[in-house]
Amino acid sequence: MARYVYDFTEGGRDMAGLLGGKGSNLAEMTRLGLPVPPGFTLTTEACRSVLDTGGEPPGLWEEVAGHLTDLETGSGRLLGQPDNPLLLSVRSGARFSMPGMMETILDIGLDDDSVHGLAKVSGNERFAWDSYRRLVQMLGTTVMGVDPSLFERALTQLKEARGVPDDVHLDAEDLARLVETYKNVIHQETGERFPQSPVEQLRRAVLAVFASWNGERARLYRRREHIADDLGTAVNVQRMVFGNLGSDSGSGVAFTRDPATGARGLYGDYLPNAQGEDVVAGIRNTVPLTELKRLDPGAYGRLRAHMETLERHYRDLCDIEFTIERGTLWMLQTRVGKRTAEAAFVLGADLADEGLITADEGLARVSGEGLARLMFPRFDTAVTGDVLARGVPASPGAAVGAAVFDSAEAVRRAADGERVVLVRQETTPDDLPGMIAAQAVLTSRGGKTSHAAVVARGMGKVCVCGADELTVDTGARRCTAPDGTIVEEGTVLSVDGTAGTVYAGAVPLVDSAVMRYLEAGAGGRATTGVVDAVARALARADAVRRLEVRANADTPQDAVRARRFGAQGIGLCRTEHMFLGERRKLVEEMILAGTDAGRERALAALLPLQREDFTGILEAMDGLPVTIRLLDPPLHEFLPDRADLAVRIATAEARGEEPDAHDAELLAAVGRMHEENPMLGLRGVRLGLVVPGLVAMQVRALGEAVAQRLAAGGAPRAEIMVPLVGDVRELRLVREEVERVLAEVSDTSGVPVTCPVGTMIELPRAALTAGRIAEDAEFFSFGTNDLTQTTWGFSRDDVEAEFFSAYLDRGVFPVSPFETLDRDGVGRLVGIAVEEGRATRPDLTIGVCGEHGGDPDSVHFFHSAGLDYVSCSPFRVPVARLEAGRAAL
Ligand code: PEP
Ligand code: MG
Repeated sequence: MARYVYDFTEGGRDMAGLLGGKGSNLAEMTRLGLPVPPGFTLTTEACRSVLDTGGEPPGLWEEVAGHLTDLETGSGRLLGQPDNPLLLSVRSGARFSMPGMMETILDIGLDDDSVHGLAKVSGNERFAWDSYRRLVQMLGTTVMGVDPSLFERALTQLKEARGVPDDVHLDAEDLARLVETYKNVIHQETGERFPQSPVEQLRRAVLAVFASWNGERARLYRRREHIADDLGTAVNVQRMVFGNLGSDSGSGVAFTRDPATGARGLYGDYLPNAQGEDVVAGIRNTVPLTELKRLDPGAYGRLRAHMETLERHYRDLCDIEFTIERGTLWMLQTRVGKRTAEAAFVLGADLADEGLITADEGLARVSGEGLARLMFPRFDTAVTGDVLARGVPASPGAAVGAAVFDSAEAVRRAADGERVVLVRQETTPDDLPGMIAAQAVLTSRGGKTSHAAVVARGMGKVCVCGADELTVDTGARRCTAPDGTIVEEGTVLSVDGTAGTVYAGAVPLVDSAVMRYLEAGAGGRATTGVVDAVARALARADAVRRLEVRANADTPQDAVRARRFGAQGIGLCRTEHMFLGERRKLVEEMILAGTDAGRERALAALLPLQREDFTGILEAMDGLPVTIRLLDPPLHEFLPDRADLAVRIATAEARGEEPDAHDAELLAAVGRMHEENPMLGLRGVRLGLVVPGLVAMQVRALGEAVAQRLAAGGAPRAEIMVPLVGDVRELRLVREEVERVLAEVSDTSGVPVTCPVGTMIELPRAALTAGRIAEDAEFFSFGTNDLTQTTWGFSRDDVEAEFFSAYLDRGVFPVSPFETLDRDGVGRLVGIAVEEGRATRPDLTIGVCGEHGGDPDSVHFFHSAGLDYVSCSPFRVPVARLEAGRAAL
């Protein structure tokens, strides 16, 4: 029979799939002999079974009862025992951390009798009633579905009646009264009494936590973090320990190193006389962990030792939650901690230096996405102006946006394209949509481990928290700075999550240190820890990767920059980009020419311009391959607008004037060439085959540029790439022309010029007939933009705006297929083309030059599909190098 419950003494960290992250790590700490309050875990399998069937799997509660008995025997107390109750916490814990997104219920086991027992054994009546109040409230909302605001209202009314500012001023008698009020609220709202049976409390709490897996905010968080919906959560049932028993108690969160910068040294927040929930909620401002050293040196020393044990054991930065109950330290959670991109790089290098991990492990723990984040600009500190407020630098980066004071407003404005900064006293999981929509999150309360900080860091979103000089009035939608400045909703703020500062207005941005280093190319010097760590990760990636990385570049300037970023050639030079501006007229003439002579004139005028372009690029990429793609403009991009022309002519006629003769001719020609669906029309190789002299002009320009570079002592390595081929015969016709023209150039220049000829694979038919196409192609390059468009039948120009958000929301795909390669469909075509192309021509060079060439996940796919290179925009080149290295590990 399936087993659904494991004691903490039975599991381990390798069981995270079954026991969830929290449960498996609690078991691991228990095995390591660290002080963990005893407990057990209900598996994710149990959760899936409950959610799938709507009922509990047979035997589940018998198993729970057995583990509960063990727990009771071990602690010498019974759950809810009237004179000395064992109390339990019930917490969610999924495979992947989802901070604050699911339910937690504390103090299970308190009822009208045992609350007195707790008061007696703790010697603290107020504490007992406060715990009972919390239980009634938590069960009331999460299990019995009562609107939380009803409890809040009752609490506010009581405080007003007693004339006290906050809950700490309520005494035991007040809280006992509040419990009665809460119980009445539950009865009124649900018709049910608050359950007095501790076992029933436990059972219903467990089911509520399972159900919270499908809660709205949990689902939203999973979509955002790409966590699968069918994993389910485990539930941890654990003996309660109390950090709120007086000044010798407290709760805290700690990291073995700084999660923002990766710097060595214990790091964290502590809240004396408080439960763990109070720390994470950021409701009261915490003190730095160093303060604990003063308050309780013994507990601090033990904490340090345990954390060292954990970091050495996990060989990584760990974060923990702990509670001190009357001087006794308890470890309540650990996990490999979330970190910023900067910290990930620094840790990778430092832990390798310390011999805890290998260089390859260090590389595996950083990401291209993180590197891209470090390449983003920072605020220009020379011109920041006056600081409006300071807070805790919780998640780095620079962001500018209009201040908004609630989640809904953030979402509304962001949907209109506005950049916003979400300003709150503190955030709760309900603020998640607003946090996603905002550029930055700013709170006036809470430390580096508050909800805002943890969630923002996980998302890579800029965050400053605990800016307690700011008085945030969410009701009035404004906040006030210490100097009296009032920030109304809509006021532009600049938030520096690296320094923890906030400025009024939009502060200008400058390049980051990492960017400056990368842009300096071979001459760059690593001056700071993070730059050095990035340099080392890239060096390791370059040493292990099999994929080469080229750049998509159309100008000598881009080529120079790409080379500094480490590009090993140009994988795509889009020649149509060379025909913009003034040259557009010539292209228009060439396409629309009524006579051969007119067309030849236009081509002759384009030839020297095109030769110059090629010479510059070949010079910038001397010694490296440069793939020149023949012209591939969707026709409408180069032709004058039909409606404009018609209006011009009609206006002239309406004025009684003779319309411009050229306009009339153009209109007729544009009418002839008009296409309803230009992306599927006369573009790519089709244009080259239809417009006489076009291919010849481009090839001649390139051949002459190569001859010039050779004569100048250079090492040009031009390749000619034919776009949008669907059949080998198209390619063959172009190849014949290329060979003819290059032979002529060789003759005229006296320098033998040859260039490999290859094709793009960007139509399903090309992929499916790749074996035949390879007879005439020396290389393939996947145009995954068009291949995605034509495989899915999605217009690449329209759909993303039109209906992708609905598709993303409804889970048709987790991410746009134009961003991350669709492995199942487009990827399958890639696989077929690679296999059949190489079967025909074993030494076929194969690359990719669609946008996917710079997307981390897609790079991993191209590695495993056996490609030789990826080509992407110059700024993505370092990202692709890093990911190609990681793919090879
Ligand atoms: C492609 O289709 O993937 C490609 C690189 O070509 P373009 O984007 O220029 O159509
Ligand atoms: Mg294309």
